[in-house]
Amino acid sequence: MTELVEDDLVARLRDDVKRAATVDMWLPRGSLRNLPALLPELTAVRNGDSGAESVTVWVEPDPDGHLPVEALQARWEGVNIRACLPVLESCAVLGDVVWSSSEPLLGTEPGVVLRTEYRAFADAARRAQRRRPGAGVPGSGQLGEDCGHCRRMLVRYEQDRRGRTDLRHECASCGA
Ligand SMILES: [Zn+2]
Repeated sequence: MTELVEDDLVARLRDDVKRAATVDMWLPRGSLRNLPALLPELTAVRNGDSGAESVTVWVEPDPDGHLPVEALQARWEGVNIRACLPVLESCAVLGDVVWSSSEPLLGTEPGVVLRTEYRAFADAARRAQRRRPGAGVPGSGQLGEDCGHCRRMLVRYEQDRRGRTDLRHECASCGA
């Protein structure tokens, strides 16, 4: 059920997004070179009746809060991009398919890429990785907000400087 994907990575991802009712991605800091190629499929995923966003793409910004230009472009086109620090694993749950990679999945060198198509596993992975809202911080399936001062995306911080759990929704630049 798990396969090592060595060829046609972008085409395979596009096919899986096309078939998916929900898309959750976690992209650590690094290149997002292949994100634009997925935009037609990502923007075509319809939201369900629950009011939640069907797509959540978590992107790790650099320490001053800047997101890669590909992420900003995707957000501009209506993809629910969310800034999160840290993003520890590179993975995606596209409908019934779980993807993981040793390096950033949408970058130039994704490393070892594994794809598993199995509904129960995908459901479990989605639940395990799902970010719950709390302390005024939106979670998976919710839109982010912009800083009222500098218009940068607020970052969902999940750890303090010592690595302890600490949930905040702040501007990396203004600290507001
Ligand atoms: Zn700001």
